[in-house]
Amino acid sequence: MTHIQNYINGALVAPKSGEYLDNYNPAKGEVYSYIPDSNSEDIESAYSAAEGAKEMWAATSKQERSDIMMRLAQLIDDNAKELALAESIDNGKTVKLASHVDIPRASSNIRFFATAILHYASESHDMDGIAINYTLRKPIGVVGCISPWNLPLYLFTWKIAPALASGNCVVAKPSEVTPMTAYLFSKLCIEAGMPAGVLNIVHGLGAKVGAAITVHPKIKAISFTGGTATGKSIAAVAAPMFKKLSLELGGKNPNIIFADCDFDKALKTTMASSFANQGQICLCGSRIFVERPIYEKFRDAFVAKTKAMKVGNPLDKETSIGATVSKEHKAKILSYVELAKEEGGTILTGGKEVILEGECANGYFIEPTIIEGLSFDCRVNQEEIFGPVVTIMPFDTEEEVLGYANSTEYGLAATVWTENITRANRFGAKLESGIVWVNCWLVRDLRTPFGGVKNSGVGREGGFHAFNFFTEPTNVCIGL
Ligand code: NAD
Repeated sequence: MTHIQNYINGALVAPKSGEYLDNYNPAKGEVYSYIPDSNSEDIESAYSAAEGAKEMWAATSKQERSDIMMRLAQLIDDNAKELALAESIDNGKTVKLASHVDIPRASSNIRFFATAILHYASESHDMDGIAINYTLRKPIGVVGCISPWNLPLYLFTWKIAPALASGNCVVAKPSEVTPMTAYLFSKLCIEAGMPAGVLNIVHGLGAKVGAAITVHPKIKAISFTGGTATGKSIAAVAAPMFKKLSLELGGKNPNIIFADCDFDKALKTTMASSFANQGQICLCGSRIFVERPIYEKFRDAFVAKTKAMKVGNPLDKETSIGATVSKEHKAKILSYVELAKEEGGTILTGGKEVILEGECANGYFIEPTIIEGLSFDCRVNQEEIFGPVVTIMPFDTEEEVLGYANSTEYGLAATVWTENITRANRFGAKLESGIVWVNCWLVRDLRTPFGGVKNSGVGREGGFHAFNFFTEPTNVCIGL
């Protein structure tokens, strides 16, 4: 079985402790590889490597950095099949999704920031004959990137690419739940000729490795994507150290469907926004509000389509719902189904674990689940479940549904379905959300600001927003 290695100073190395953790295949419920159980000593050596490479990388021209990253993007494409298979086995997501979304997006992330840096410019301010100011944007130095398990290589590359393109050296930690593609990626970095020390990938537990990055006095910025509780603990340590922080956290996204929507499009997209990746996408719409005149029609069609979804082996091309990521996460999702019953909800479809036959008999499968009859403010409608479980509720007025939509502590993404453009503008602007999709979902232009409000995060990623985060501005004022 593969022993995953850390990638430090350009080489694949074992953890200092010599210890490894079990890595599970969630579709089979069995250990299939081992993860380095790294600690603060590994972070120290990753930091030293990054520190040693810092001046060299910052002095490398944008074009040279871009060229190296473009080679890396090409290598992801060349190895797309192997990476998609690895992502599916490691995470439980269908190989179809990994092939169409995760891996292509990983190479797009690298390519996007490798080319964007060639167009990045900073401001100048002319003071009418008195002075002229121009702003230098310098790399921060050594930065930390910490990513979650739900879109492993997709989000890992989304973080490291802008950091590297803007001239920083990186100490990165992928999720210990899904480390495999970051390991395969480290081999591609070596093949692409990434100079030693520029990117360092340290595997292991959040409480050891992630915490060691957060507390490191010389790692001056942390870009984190993950749960709100983890984000809070990182902020508590990093804020008094005056580190720059970008926090992309949890969500409880509303999907608001007005009676004048394009019904078929809203229904088809709601299937994806509810259950893609087993509902384990931070942008999934888990609270569905439907205007009363079409409530029953929509609900019945949605339930019928959901019942027809195939839960199965993620490697099977026919499967639409793969495994949830871990035994613990499966238990957490099912506990919310029980809570929904206690809170007065009716399970319209799903609600149970699925026991498959054959090699996936011990996998972590759950039926796609729709719950009706809950109030907007109950726990199931307020807390992030992060699984194939959605609630559906009717509403009568725009004002009423706005209150429901904005009632949670989160504010990451919202989806609105209406053919009335005036309403879309008026209503969209009132949603407390970093992202509002109207008549679409998960359509991403990588130049746009990405991030949440309220407890969904601090700061924005994407496009030049990411470069602004990963650089330190110096204003130079020249008297005339
Ligand atoms: P998590 O917070 O448990 O873990 C995320 C990462 O943080 C992992 O690499 C983990 O090892 C590390 N970590 C854990 N404890 C740490 C600590 N004390 N110090 C430093 N690092 C630590 O989240 P998860 O379960 O991996 O991911 C699911 C969550 O991520 C959900 O809440 C989801 O909404 C959120 N998410 C948000 C976005 C977004 O863009 N806003 C995208 C994807 C996922």
